[in-house]
This record gives sequence, C-alpha cells and structure tokens, in this order.
Amino acid sequence: MKNVLEEISAVMKEGSFDDSPETRYIFRSDTTRFTGTPDVVVNVRTEKEVSGIVKIAARHGLAVIARGAGTGMSGGAVPIKGGIVINFEEMNRIIRIDRRKKIAFVEPGVVTDKLRAEAEKLGLYYPPDPSSSAVSTIGGNFAENAGGLHCVKYGVTARYVKGFKFVDASGTIHECGIYDEENTFPGAFVMIGSEGTLGIVTEIAIELIDKPPLHETFITYHTTLLNAINTVAKIKTTGVDPAVMELIDKDALYAAVQYSKVDLPENTEAVLIIMLDSYLLPDLLERSILLENILSLMKVKQYRKAESEDEEKAFWDLRKAVSSAIKRISNDKLNEDITVPVSGMYTLIEFTRSVAEKYALRIVVYGHAGDGNLHVNILFDRNNATELNNARLASEEVFKKAVELGGNISGEHGIGLAKKNFLSIQYSKNEIAFMKKIKKAFDPDNILNPDKIFNITKG
Ligand SMILES: Cc1cc2nc3c(=O)[nH]c(=O)nc-3n(C[C@H](O)[C@H](O)[C@H](O)COP(=O)(O)OP(=O)(O)OC[C@H]3O[C@@H](n4cnc5c(N)ncnc54)[C@H](O)[C@@H]3O)c2cc1C
Repeated sequence: MKNVLEEISAVMKEGSFDDSPETRYIFRSDTTRFTGTPDVVVNVRTEKEVSGIVKIAARHGLAVIARGAGTGMSGGAVPIKGGIVINFEEMNRIIRIDRRKKIAFVEPGVVTDKLRAEAEKLGLYYPPDPSSSAVSTIGGNFAENAGGLHCVKYGVTARYVKGFKFVDASGTIHECGIYDEENTFPGAFVMIGSEGTLGIVTEIAIELIDKPPLHETFITYHTTLLNAINTVAKIKTTGVDPAVMELIDKDALYAAVQYSKVDLPENTEAVLIIMLDSYLLPDLLERSILLENILSLMKVKQYRKAESEDEEKAFWDLRKAVSSAIKRISNDKLNEDITVPVSGMYTLIEFTRSVAEKYALRIVVYGHAGDGNLHVNILFDRNNATELNNARLASEEVFKKAVELGGNISGEHGIGLAKKNFLSIQYSKNEIAFMKKIKKAFDPDNILNPDKIFNITKG
C-alpha cells in the first residue's frame, strides 16, 4: 500500500487523500448495512485526477469505487473489496447552464437540489427528484438512474442525460453524446444506471425544461386500498396527466400522520397525493375539473385541494414523514423498491399482506403509484435471528411476485449488493451472462466497483 500512496501523492494535491482509520471507517458504508473498509479515500476535484487514480488502481489491481453522497440504498458505494474510494463531494461545480439550449453542464458531485435551484433561477426545471435530492449527487443519480416523485410525468434521470465524460477502467478519458456526437458509439449510454461498474463519470450534460409555473395539489382519502388503486388506474387512462401521484397505504399512513398536520377522516385506509402542473391556466383548470370528475365517478367522497401553500406543505410533509415514521416503529426495515404495472398494484399489496401474515412480520407499503413503483417496507428486528431470516424470505417472495406480475425487483434504488442474489428472479441465465460480457468489455480486470450487481469470475 505504501507504493500506492506514493503514486497517489504524485497525482493528488497534499491533503486531498486520506488513509487514516477514521476516514476509512466513515467511508465504509452507505445507507445500507453492508460494509467494507477502503484502503484510501481520495477527494478528487478534476477529471485528470480521476484518470490518474484509476491508472494507479489498474496498475495495482485495486478496486476503485466512485462515491457521491452515500445515500444509496443498495450498497453501491460500499467498498466491499477495499481499494480506493473516489469521493466526488468536492468535484461539485455547475460548470454552466446554457439557457438557450436548456442544458446544464455539471460535475458529478453537484447535489441534485442545487442543480434544481440554479435551474429555477433561470426559469428552468430539472424534474427527477429522488426523495434524497437535498443530499444525493447528480453522479449518484446518473449511476443509479434515479427516479422520484415527478417521474410519473417527466421520466427518470436517463431521460435528461444528453452526454457525459467518463474515465474507463484503464484511466482513459472519453466523451460521448453532445460532447462528441460524431464519435460516440451508441452503446456508451449503457453506463447510465450501471452503478459505477462500467466507468467513472466526470461531467454530465443535463437537459432542462421550462418550469411549469402553475400547479395544484390534492389529497384524496380512500376507505379501501382497492378504491385508491382503481382511482390511480382511472386517472392514468384519462388526460389528467398528473406530475405526481403518490400512494400511502394504511400502516404507513397511520405511522406518519402523527408527524403531520393532515387530519385523516375516519375509516381512511389509503391516501393519494396528486399534483397537477401546467404552463397554461385553462389547461390546468380543465385537468383539475377532470380529476374531480374522476374522483366523483370513483365515489371518492373525501378529498381536498390545497387552498394555501401551508396546506399544500402539510400534504407533502405527510408524504415526507413516511420513511422516518416507519423507522420509529421498527428496529430494522428492508425497503424494497419493486415495480409492477398499475394493474398489478392491488394484487401485489394484498400479496404483501399474506406474506406478512405467513412470516409474522409487519409490512408497510407506499410509493410512486403513478408508475407502479412501490416501496415495500419489511419491518423486523435484526437481533432476532428468526425475524431476520423471515424478512429475507419475505423479500424474496415479494420480488418473485413483482416479476410474475410483469414488474421489476428494483425500480430506482439499484441492485448493488442488496439485490444481487435475487437478480436471477428477473433475468435469465443468458441475460445475466450477456450483462457480464458487457462488464468484461468495459472492465476486463474487474476493478470498477467489483462484486456489485453480480460477481465476475476470471476468464
Ligand atoms: C431518504 C432517502 C430517500 C431516497 N429516495 C430515492 C428516490 O425517491 N428515488 C431514487 O431513485 N433513489 C432514492 N434514494 C436512493 C439514493 O438517494 C439514490 O440512489 C441516489 O441516486 C444516490 O446518490 P448518491 O450521490 O448518494 O450516490 P452514492 O450512494 O454515493 O452512490 C450510488 C452509486 O453511484 C455510483 N457513483 C457515484 N458517483 C459516481 C460517478 N461519478 N461515476 C460513476 N458512478 C458513481 C457509486 O459507485 C454507487 O454505485 C433515496 C435514499 C434515501 C436515503
């Protein structure tokens, strides 16, 4: 390791890398319970430094793990095989925003909300909004192809990536998309969502849109889950086109409501929070009336349209309170971000109830109902071996059901370490073998974030 540190000191400025036990401890995990201690953490600021570090890692056969803010929920940034963590926290400049072309050129360490805020100053909008956006980075969003509340209407991160620069496993710098249209091979875009296993992104060109100036927010109270889900389905088949459509099922709702100012009518079994946005008032009003007509058709008797910013804030506070409220009612939770077609949501949630009963666990569900991305939270106590084992078995059953219903084992959090053992539930042997071929083509010596998504054997 002494040689490696000497080589790093030739590439990095003094004080910009650290192999102290404290720092190595801090960078050993993300929000999951997976851990792995890096040999050294480098705080990069330039593409040249990233390239230099990867060259060192390649020479020594060391693992190299890119890290944004560490908010990942699948263990992606965990240095499970030690090696070098490239920390992008300080490589965080918004290089420029081209107002006319509506493109932002950003370094990977830019915090998602910072980009959103800077875009807004110019009347522009970056729609993907993972709930972690106050902390997560664009590099991490790119690597996980992050989704969020507004993705039902506006799509996930990949939709906004116009090009990027990256360092490959040999340390060579590449440019693709709008950085070099002529020479970009179309396959380069496979890097979006590849969880740092194919290359390390050093700059991203992000498409922005004009910010819709108008919006309205509703909360709808349903006396049955089925009614809530049928309402989602009905809204999807009309021209309401919500920008956000979130579902909170009973148990998640009652855990969270005490931390919000929302008054739940009696017998509420589920709520939807629905936001409509628009560039034009007549359009917004028309879709708002259409939504109210659908609610009436679906016999949703109790709902409110936010009449003030405070009231709207109360709706969102309820939604935001869900995750931490669930943490308060359980020692541990597995937050599985499965997806199913909207037509399969009710079956899936009912299935989670039967699984909860079978394994004597609590399972609570909420999520981005508009695109069938449900967060199935399996609550358990890690110190209880039976519960821990049952939680894992319950997860597996939920994954299988999601895939059987035409969905995915992960809608937005990625595979990383958390779901790699379940990959074969969704993909055939041939498909996994094909993905491994792509990995080997990009990273023949398996140094880029090794052992994430799947293990690679030599040869
Ligand atoms: C409270 C909470 C709410 C969340 N809500 C959402 C949500 O609504 N939607 C959603 O999609 N996710 C959500 N997440 C998960 C997480 O925030 C996202 O996956 C996010 O994109 C991770 O960003 P990060 O900067 O923290 O990345 P990290 O956790 O640091 O890294 C994630 C992955 O990206 C790779 N990576 C980071 N930077 C680079 C780079 N420059 N080049 C190549 N690879 C890189 C890492 O190696 C790792 O594999 C949530 C997490 C929390 C804690």
